[in-house]
Amino acid sequence: MSLKELILKYAPVAVQDAGISVYNTHLYRQRHRGEYKAYQRYYRDFEQAGADRIAQEAARRQALFLQWATEKSPWYAPHRGKELHEFPILEKEQLLAHMDQIRSIEEREGIVSLTGGTTGASMKVIYHPEDMQERFALKDYFRSRYGYKLGRKVAWFSGKSLLRPVDLASGRIWRDDHINKIRFFSTFHIGPQYFDAYWRALQDFQPDYIVGFPSSVLDLCAMAQERGLRYDGKVDTFFPTAETVLPVHRELIPAMLGCRVVDQYAASEGAPFILECPEGSLHIHPLTGVFEVVDEAMQPAREGEILVTSFTTRGTPLIRYRIGDRISLAPDDHRCACGSCFPVVKHIDGRTADFIWSPENGKVNLGNISNSTKDAEGIICFQIVQETPDAVDVALMANQRFTQEQRENFLHALSLRLGKSMRINLDVVDHIPREASGKFRIVKNRLSPAAMRPLAQG
Ligand SMILES: [Zn+2]
Repeated sequence: MSLKELILKYAPVAVQDAGISVYNTHLYRQRHRGEYKAYQRYYRDFEQAGADRIAQEAARRQALFLQWATEKSPWYAPHRGKELHEFPILEKEQLLAHMDQIRSIEEREGIVSLTGGTTGASMKVIYHPEDMQERFALKDYFRSRYGYKLGRKVAWFSGKSLLRPVDLASGRIWRDDHINKIRFFSTFHIGPQYFDAYWRALQDFQPDYIVGFPSSVLDLCAMAQERGLRYDGKVDTFFPTAETVLPVHRELIPAMLGCRVVDQYAASEGAPFILECPEGSLHIHPLTGVFEVVDEAMQPAREGEILVTSFTTRGTPLIRYRIGDRISLAPDDHRCACGSCFPVVKHIDGRTADFIWSPENGKVNLGNISNSTKDAEGIICFQIVQETPDAVDVALMANQRFTQEQRENFLHALSLRLGKSMRINLDVVDHIPREASGKFRIVKNRLSPAAMRPLAQG
């Protein structure tokens, strides 16, 4: 057992809180050293720059990055001098299997980042310390546009497993970093049983900002609404992380907590950034990397899977990396009212693996499925699991407004998307378990690739 585990298991809460404060302060210093300040200025400067200057700088960053990768990474050495589109696509399996050839620095020279593997294997990448400073400089600059800075009160809802049975028994479902004014909530125990403890802890803390899984904050808000509670206070901004933000998150969370919802995309393997502007548009940040959107045949498209090339991944260069997420682009001539010339993304559509296979309609993606709740009232959340091609199991949490009529509306909407021959088994439940990472998955597809065959014609 490591010291950290020992402390988490046996030390009194006050000692744990102090330990968390010290650890956070250490992380903060590591990320804010060196080039951090210079990169904050860099990103502030380029925010309002003209299209030509941006394009020029993006091209310079891309050239520098490809040069670094082909000089320092044995994996990329054979591609020296090539244009970006001539590089091979990097699959997740390759990144896992050939990490030692892909990386350009030793583990001890960099910062190791582990990604919770929702698909099984967990991913390890090494960051160049300067790249980490740049990523934090941009993230902090982005959040500072909404008034966020270290020292303002923040409630975190992320996948940390930080509680013991004794904490649950006493209703202490959080840990405090008193130095940095951060309250870390467990995302594993949000449910009717501990709702009161959560609501009281949030209400007492009065955070200015919330950062974390939108599904967790939504669950809390939905349960509060169901109980007729009002939040006494006002959260300034909610910054969702790690999960796809759905329309229901943007409706219910602001309605209950009085906050804005400001989204971002930046996966922990080190993807380039997509950041929401004050006008509510999602902008690709062209100085952080390249997003190529491709269709099933890997040809350029407006909507589909993305291949990412990320300039801040020199430690483990990601070039045309098939990260497993989907986006839809807005038309090229779309101009955002915020004045930025950065390209606009219509939606971030979530993980490519999150679809239901319909023998009639083919792949039905997460975004499309989550829209089925549009005409049905009273749904808090649902999860749809597919184990055979012709049936799905839907577990659904709902309140009193979910009447027989609403149930039929929902089933009708699902059936429209999944095809008439799909059997839909709907169960109303009290609780839907989360993944080991603490994230909530709406869609779980457990079909083997061989089972996904179109319906025979005739
Ligand atoms: Zn904008």
